[in-house]
Amino acid sequence: MKFLEKSQNKSSGNELATSASANTEIIDQIKDPVKLSYYLIQATNDRKKEMRYRSLRLSEIDGACPREYVLGRLLDLSYWSSVRFSNRWQMDMGSVLHWKIQNDPDYFGDKIVGYWKCMACGYPRRFGVKPQEPCEQCKAHPRVTEYDEYMFRLKSPYRVVGKVDLILRVAPRVYRFGEIKTCSEDLDSPVGWHVAQAASYTYFSRYDDSLPIQIDRSTCYLFYFNKKFNWKSPTKTFTIKPTAALIDPLKEKAALITNCIKEKTLPAPLVNCINNNFAKGRASKCGIAKECKKKFDMGIEAL
Ligand code: SF4
Ligand SMILES: [Zn+2]
Repeated sequence: MKFLEKSQNKSSGNELATSASANTEIIDQIKDPVKLSYYLIQATNDRKKEMRYRSLRLSEIDGACPREYVLGRLLDLSYWSSVRFSNRWQMDMGSVLHWKIQNDPDYFGDKIVGYWKCMACGYPRRFGVKPQEPCEQCKAHPRVTEYDEYMFRLKSPYRVVGKVDLILRVAPRVYRFGEIKTCSEDLDSPVGWHVAQAASYTYFSRYDDSLPIQIDRSTCYLFYFNKKFNWKSPTKTFTIKPTAALIDPLKEKAALITNCIKEKTLPAPLVNCINNNFAKGRASKCGIAKECKKKFDMGIEAL
């Protein structure tokens, strides 16, 4: 502020007014608060994100198309997904809240366990409850140590990848997974694809042996945090049981993708995509619909 005042005092009021109006000609003409906001935060309509197909993302398992993953992987395809600023804002709000819930002891306190990373030097500190002492490597204050979500990437028996929001110690020596979701309404039941995601983390992670603890795979939790003020139930927790009825179709899908990649064969396109000539419906959300249609039209079933 001192620097600002000093530089303003050097110029006369008139000079300041003239240069300001010359420099702010465009911005001062914008009266629409939405446009002004977009102008000032450089928010063009779309933000770009590159999508690849290395492994089946379990966060997408419910709606995933096996052919998309197999084709994408075998041809090493990628595409740029456009994200409108409004969507980006929604996603960012969710991410910020995720971070807060994982790192602020006011939420899960010492129930939350996992890997912790020093953000000052990048050192992966240890597995357990949140460290209270300075970083062993760089001595940075523990407030810059953050929760580092447990991630597993498998090649066999299923080619899948998952990143778990929470590992919770719910009772002495009992550890369960939790998934954080933010919402804008009071939900009476969990959302289907969230259930598939949480259950599949609990099921598929059994093939990864990197965790130093045993996970209780009979149960996991879906936590909904309501972004809209709600006096009575700002948060709700749903218990998810990864039963055979829930997991078997997910296993089948993951197995189909894994085997087709291994054998270089293509799963059939989705009926919805064929019926819409690969242009509308599910295909409009697919980044590689053109490639898929090309192979289908040419009758190619293996690569
Ligand atoms: S166009 Fe449809 S069938 Fe083809 S890869 Fe995409 S989602 Fe799958
Ligand atoms: Zn450090």
